[in-house]
Amino acid sequence: MSGVKGFTPVSTVDWPGKIVSVIYIGGCNFRCGYCHNPELALNTAPDYPVEDIFRRLAKAQRDEPGWIDGIVITGGEPTLWRSTRDAPGLLEFIESLKCFRLPIRIDTNYAEPFPTLLEAVRRQSIYGIMVDIKTTPSQYYRVIGGSFLKAPEVRQKIKDINTFPKDVVDVQYRTTAIPGLVEEPEIREIRKLLKKPHTVQFFRPGHCLDPKFNDIALFTSEREEAMRKEFNS
Ligand code: SF4
Repeated sequence: MSGVKGFTPVSTVDWPGKIVSVIYIGGCNFRCGYCHNPELALNTAPDYPVEDIFRRLAKAQRDEPGWIDGIVITGGEPTLWRSTRDAPGLLEFIESLKCFRLPIRIDTNYAEPFPTLLEAVRRQSIYGIMVDIKTTPSQYYRVIGGSFLKAPEVRQKIKDINTFPKDVVDVQYRTTAIPGLVEEPEIREIRKLLKKPHTVQFFRPGHCLDPKFNDIALFTSEREEAMRKEFNS
């Protein structure tokens, strides 16, 4: 079974400043109630034909060279896609994408993937890593659907990420602000721990893993604007 569950050939919102293709990998070790991709998180989405991705990327490069600036590999949690004796995993998949000579970024919740990412960085296979920092270490259990990742482990993981050298891989952090769960005080506390660029995005209801999240009251536009000014400018 392939780990690839979806493909968006052209996106202008997934990597600020770039037009990218986005590849979705199934499976996740978190159960964030606000998750917009429950089929990916629960790995119930059907496999997407990998050969179609290669065909379309090759066609884009042939017909419109320079149109696509990069590739984002997201999920789910891509780093959980490991190779087996009979089938390739994420690292082999990334290697095969290198033929397009496009910068590749991996999105990760960073719960357990250090060896996979280290290896990808060592091979110089990826240009960037976008780490989702869910909330403050002591509040992680409230967001990720359980207490299996304790506060000291989260702190240690953030310390590990902080050590990635800037000239080798571009590491950035992202946090989703969620009313009642991840608000200004949590974001300010997170910021104190991070040594790489950090942006805040805002929860939007829709097709959430926990349907309760579809009905929560959103931040007012004034409050969102104030948070954008404080955290993203
Ligand atoms: S939002 Fe949470 S559950 Fe959904 S893919 Fe990301 S880490 Fe996994």
